[in-house]
Amino acid sequence: MEVTYTSTRSRGKAVTASQAILQGLSDDGGLFVPTSIPSLPVSLQEMAEMSYQELAYQVMRLFLTDYTEEELRDCIRNAYDEKFDTGSIAPLKETKGDVFYLELFHGKTIAFKDMALSILPYLMTCAARKNRIRNEIVILTATSGDTGKAALAGFADVPGTRIIVFYPKYGVSAIQEKQMVTQKGANTTVIGITGNFDDAQTAVKKMFNDEAMKNRLSEAGFQFSSANSINIGRLVPQIVYYVYAYATLVKEKKIKAGDRINITVPTGNFGNILAAFYAKQMGLPVEKLICASNENKVLFDFFSTGTYDRKRDFVLTSSPSMDILISSNLERLIYRIAGNDPDKCREFMKALSTGGEYTITEHMREGLSDFYGNFCSEEETRKTIHDVFRENAYVIDPHTAVAAGVLEKYREETKDGRLTVIASTASPFKFNRSVVEALTGEKSEEDDFVLADRLSALSGVPVPAAVQEIRTSPVLHDQVVDAPDMPAAVLNALGIRN
Ligand SMILES: *Cc1c(COP(=O)(O)O)cnc(C)c1O
Repeated sequence: MEVTYTSTRSRGKAVTASQAILQGLSDDGGLFVPTSIPSLPVSLQEMAEMSYQELAYQVMRLFLTDYTEEELRDCIRNAYDEKFDTGSIAPLKETKGDVFYLELFHGKTIAFKDMALSILPYLMTCAARKNRIRNEIVILTATSGDTGKAALAGFADVPGTRIIVFYPKYGVSAIQEKQMVTQKGANTTVIGITGNFDDAQTAVKKMFNDEAMKNRLSEAGFQFSSANSINIGRLVPQIVYYVYAYATLVKEKKIKAGDRINITVPTGNFGNILAAFYAKQMGLPVEKLICASNENKVLFDFFSTGTYDRKRDFVLTSSPSMDILISSNLERLIYRIAGNDPDKCREFMKALSTGGEYTITEHMREGLSDFYGNFCSEEETRKTIHDVFRENAYVIDPHTAVAAGVLEKYREETKDGRLTVIASTASPFKFNRSVVEALTGEKSEEDDFVLADRLSALSGVPVPAAVQEIRTSPVLHDQVVDAPDMPAAVLNALGIRN
């Protein structure tokens, strides 16, 4: 059955999957949503016998219905190959208490965004061919840290594409920054901004909707697309690993096909957990989707009160990829619980951008029953890293620790101790300062590379290649601008006269 995509904010014409991937965001500022959610294609028992790549094909073909089998299999083959340091792509690590960590950090940049961003460039260049696009595609991305490097790594030197990444100069870890500013590739530009992630994301969204700017690009032979987690080409590949995790549990006889599990996701922009929600809608036996926030707990407040309120101080935490006050992908859930009504959804989003808040109806709140939300303080996050290591000799990163800490709160509150999969979104080596300090209980003055070696000694895990590589790489990008100057920086990067 053909699946097409419409905007969360208006009743315009539906577009195909490849058009939605090319466009990123709908013209009205809304997000593309599938007109229907397909059901899982084969039995869970059969899926247990499939490789990651085969399962990826079986799941993705249902959403990307205008790609041919050959096209999609090509994209998957190019994406999930030796770039990953394990053949299983997304392994499960069992720990005490029926908790399984789904390790989504075995790609090039040792964080979960590799899962989608290693395939997006192929989905996108294929989409350009299918739609006879002649313009060069300009990937414009705002990053809170991990997306930037993962997008750069995915798009570097891909013919027919340029990539421009903006990151908060004072809001990412030293290793995250070094990873980005050492990026090679003639088509790459990396720029720091003096504001925070939301400033960067807001400015990027504005450029996408700026008709005058779009015309200038078009005259010069360029067009924007987005690699941000709002692109359905990011969302769909993320559904795969939840199905794969379930299939692995069946294969390893940890559960029987049909048993319901819980899934816990450390959440920022709401993309990863939305993919888990879509997996559940497809028929994956999931009980609760546990949404874990750090001290920027806007989602916890939303789940507990029905009011989304971004008017609050932005907190810099040890889990910077979750330091977000506007969770863009939540809009897709709002659309759904509003009865797939774009008019209602548009009103909420308008209220958010003008007044900084909106409150959903009681009826809509019933649609949130699949979710549980809570948050962890910085202190609780440190303690969780420490405790998980002491009990399991297993080191987790601060983002994953937020999820583990929230799971503990959920279990205490509800006494629901069923088997739970935690999305483990980054290697601890990417945030080694916070992790070493949590493990040892001491502040450290050493540089990040010394800390990587210490973490390796403490955990018995070798320093990943992604960290080794940047030890000696030269800085190739050192531009810093204020948020209002971002459009000028984009034109400049593309060689368009201002
Ligand atoms: C991006 C990111 C998250 C948050 O994922 P969303 O899809 O934005 O909710 C969590 N952890 C890490 C390490 C990330 O990079």
